[in-house]
Amino acid sequence: MRKRMIAGNWKMNKTFSEAVELASGLAKELADGTGDVDVVVAPPAVDLKGVAEVIEQEQAAFALSAQNVYWEESGAYTGETAPNMLEAIGATHCIIGHSERRDYFHETDEEINKKAKALMAHGIVPISCCGESLEIREAGKHVEFVVDQIKKDTEGLEITDPSKYVIAYEPIWAIGTGKTATADDAQEVCGAIRAALVEIFGQEIADGIRVLYGGSAKPDNIAGFLEKEDVDGALVGGASLKADSFADMVRSAMA
Ligand code: PEP
Repeated sequence: MRKRMIAGNWKMNKTFSEAVELASGLAKELADGTGDVDVVVAPPAVDLKGVAEVIEQEQAAFALSAQNVYWEESGAYTGETAPNMLEAIGATHCIIGHSERRDYFHETDEEINKKAKALMAHGIVPISCCGESLEIREAGKHVEFVVDQIKKDTEGLEITDPSKYVIAYEPIWAIGTGKTATADDAQEVCGAIRAALVEIFGQEIADGIRVLYGGSAKPDNIAGFLEKEDVDGALVGGASLKADSFADMVRSAMA
């Protein structure tokens, strides 16, 4: 049985003090626990330490994620962050391959694959994003495109504990646009991802890997996605920037 996950991607929002305030607000909202739902927040890199301290001091019911990582251990890579640095600061998860990074920073599947391997070597759970553009969807090639991303992103990964690798299906045309995919659209692709995972890792591992939906998920539409067989939670952008709306989404997943 896969445990649901609700992950908040704060993107490039929140100064240090704002991030601490949001994390404290969320800790209070979720003070009664999150049942059998894993909750994760991904603040900007400079805010990670502040949010880690809130989690520790308030015994908060959520885990800490970075939004990006570099695959080398150390060295002359100005501006980058190594996996051991994330580990040292208390990050247990890291988003990789977000479409904004693929698009604006030209990240490739090969790089995303190296990032996953580097994170897993440090026991950090990758939340590996995939998803198609509107053009690809309109051409009817979305399933084929996403399955190809999955094959490249997981190439050579050794997964023994499937709870330690997470996929987020995020159709690019639905991110930050207010346009959501329907729950059936999400299931079509998440189901195809699961079938690809069976081919790659075998049934048992594939059955344990969580596949999240992301793209304008909000308190009023999340329940429909979660009803679908292969949708195990959500990666949330905009609606994760307010403690009450994000907590509402967590509560929907607990129901
Ligand atoms: C995201 O960027 O991961 C995302 C899902 O954003 P939004 O919820 O704002 O569409």
